[in-house]
Amino acid sequence: MTNSKLDPENWDDFRAQAHRLLDTCLKRLENAADFPWVPVPEDIKQSYEISGSETKAEALVERLTHDVLPYHTGNTHPQFFGWVHGTGLASGLLSEMVAATMNSNCGGRDHGATYMERAVIDWTRKVMGLPDTTSGVLVTGTSQATVIALSAARLKTLGAASRKSGNDGAKLVAYAGAGVHTATKNAIELLGFGSDALRLVPDDGPDGMDLSALQDLIAQDRKSGLTPFAIIGTAGSVDRGHFDDLNGLADIAQTLGVWLHVDGAFGAWTRLADDPWHGLTDGIGRVDSMACDFHKWMSVPYDCGLVLIRQEADHRAAFAARPSYLAAQQDGLGAGDPWFCDYGIDLSRGNRALKVWTALELYGQDRFGQAISENCRLAGFMGDLVTAHADMALMAPVLSNVCIFTANASLDKATQSDLNTLIAQRLQIEGKTVFSTTNADGIVCLRAAIVNHRTQNADVQNAISNVHKIAQTLSV
Ligand SMILES: *Cc1c(COP(=O)(O)O)cnc(C)c1O
Repeated sequence: MTNSKLDPENWDDFRAQAHRLLDTCLKRLENAADFPWVPVPEDIKQSYEISGSETKAEALVERLTHDVLPYHTGNTHPQFFGWVHGTGLASGLLSEMVAATMNSNCGGRDHGATYMERAVIDWTRKVMGLPDTTSGVLVTGTSQATVIALSAARLKTLGAASRKSGNDGAKLVAYAGAGVHTATKNAIELLGFGSDALRLVPDDGPDGMDLSALQDLIAQDRKSGLTPFAIIGTAGSVDRGHFDDLNGLADIAQTLGVWLHVDGAFGAWTRLADDPWHGLTDGIGRVDSMACDFHKWMSVPYDCGLVLIRQEADHRAAFAARPSYLAAQQDGLGAGDPWFCDYGIDLSRGNRALKVWTALELYGQDRFGQAISENCRLAGFMGDLVTAHADMALMAPVLSNVCIFTANASLDKATQSDLNTLIAQRLQIEGKTVFSTTNADGIVCLRAAIVNHRTQNADVQNAISNVHKIAQTLSV
């Protein structure tokens, strides 16, 4: 036992309280269907104010149980379909416990977590069909992964000297489908290109980006003295769940000598699914870089995303720069190569690999594939229920796991928008079903993106019947 100011004074007492809390958490996850999102009451919000005084472990566990645990995002519930939120996994309880105990700093050096992260990256690059020259780093999410990938693309285009000279007058431009996620727009702005540097290509067809429009734009831009530096494909658009033709994009990128990056935040994981969904990501192994999230369709606890870069040298060239106080040793804890700080913008990093590894070891990759296929099937089932319903209408074809519809197609567009917006809010507040909304054909529609391994047929039937019931009360 240590004589520490910040370790428990009484480990037996702390142990008893920790066991009690673990049981509470297990029960909460086992009964996830009983715990939808609920609004945070005013007095609870106030109670989070930090008093600065000490609390006994028993009282703290009470507060964690009653004031904290109930006020979650709702995404552990089987009828949560909003935005693209991962569902979480019981394996996370195990991995987070061990990670907190080890408290590894994964920026570098020679210890277990760095080897585990390399194993996670290696497994993923094989799933995606990338070669063994590929490097990667686990990050907060696809937003940060995109910044890292586009930095590498810039360096590849301008050469190593650009780390010192910057863009040096070169006018770099990138290309993406119009439905590209804001993460890409943010990355372009953050890297200082300016939002005009992102050329938006029409992508409203079921095959995503219009490839001939893309080629025309690149040719025009080159003629005007601009430097195309990246084509950004989307595997699973956030709004509709559409997929660009990745082989088509790879052919163009190869012919024109432009870096191909793919945002596969959730959609990349259709690689684990059965056909026809598996085929949506054919060609993803041809990218120069890609981003995907473990915290969405792979259900790993937040946060955990990944950037993969086809050529390790390109990755390292963009980021590695260790000052003397971080120089690698030949041996000992200060050894090891690469250090993950050579691959991104974080130096101190948490142990994200462990929660991925624990999940894959516990469940095996086939069960993830089955869950992902099942989600796509359920989105199709939701689409069928909508189509068969007298009032409702599907607003976009269901290609993967996203279903967009309106609750009453017979109303004028503005009234439909109001109705769908109100339905989404009411169903959330009543703790029944969580849809988010999006615009299609000038109508605010209900949108389900099913990345939820707890969802079953009955949840989808229930959700559609909830929409119908609320729609009727609102129309009266
Ligand atoms: C969620 C998402 C992002 C952003 O990823 P984060 O992990 O939230 O940073 C980017 N692209 C797509 C398609 C997404 O669904």
